Parts: sequence; C-alpha cells; structure tokens
Amino acid sequence: MCIFCDIIEGKIPSAKVYEDDQCLAILDISQVTRGHTLVMPKQHFANILECDEQTLAHLIEVVRDLAGKIVKNLDARGCNILVNTNEAAGQSVMHLHFHIIPRYGNDEGLNIEFDPHHEPYDLAEIVRDINKDR
Ligand code: AMP
Ligand code: ZN
Repeated sequence: MCIFCDIIEGKIPSAKVYEDDQCLAILDISQVTRGHTLVMPKQHFANILECDEQTLAHLIEVVRDLAGKIVKNLDARGCNILVNTNEAAGQSVMHLHFHIIPRYGNDEGLNIEFDPHHEPYDLAEIVRDINKDR
C-alpha cells in the first residue's frame, strides 16, 4: 500500500478537486503555487512507464481539462505539467501522478532552468541509441 492508495480509499483526508471512476485529483499538500494539483489513477501504477494505455489516455485528458480550468479560474498565466519518474527524477511518492502547477508570473517556488551541456554530443548516435531495440 502507498500513501496515495490510502488517500484514494479515503483512509487519509485530502482536498479533492475532481474524481471519476478511474482517477482522483487533489490539492498537493505542499502548494508550490496556489492551486498546485495532483492527478492520479485510482489503480496503483508505480510510474508513467508502468501505466496502461487506456488509463493514461484518460488521465491526460483529465489533466488537460483540469489544467485549463485551474489556469482560467485561478487567474494564472500558465502552468507546468510535470510527471516525475523514479527517485533520480525527484519522484517521492511511487504512485503515478501528474503535477499541475499554475504559474502567476511572480517569484514562485518552482524554477526550471535548462542548463545545456556544451559537450559535442553526437546527435545521430543518441538517436540510434534511443531506437536500438527497434
Ligand atoms: P513527487 O515528488 O513527484 O513524487 O510528488 C509527490 C507530491 O506529493 C509532493 O509534491 C508532496 O507534497 C505531495 N504529497 C505527499 N503527501 C501528500 C498528501 N498526504 N496529500 C497531498 N499531497 C501530498
Ligand atoms: Zn498507490
């Protein structure tokens, strides 16, 4: 059992934003920005790589609709939609969830900066590596 399964089963209280037969959306307890929401499947999948096609298709539709609603109704100027996958990428709860983080253009608790490597990567080689078992 995991903490999100406990929330889904109502064993732990949460601020519910949306629910249907397949998924639940709740406010993230940390509220990186006002309205920071988590969308998760009711079935336990450790991460996005484990999730079946149908569930994922439904989830992403809910994420899109909720993100639109959050941005519009909370007067945000945009949002970040994040899925951390595995500990190395910052995943701390091993139950698939999408973060919807509305952005207001202020000094916020989230700062994503791309810091490109300047090594001379061989792009063709990377493409070959990615597709090597094709
Ligand atoms: P991640 O680091 O992508 O696994 O995100 C996990 C998120 O779950 C964090 O942003 C936490 O603040 C949030 N979280 C942990 N416990 C709870 C809880 N009981 N209710 C709501 N959000 C939670
Ligand atoms: Zn779970």
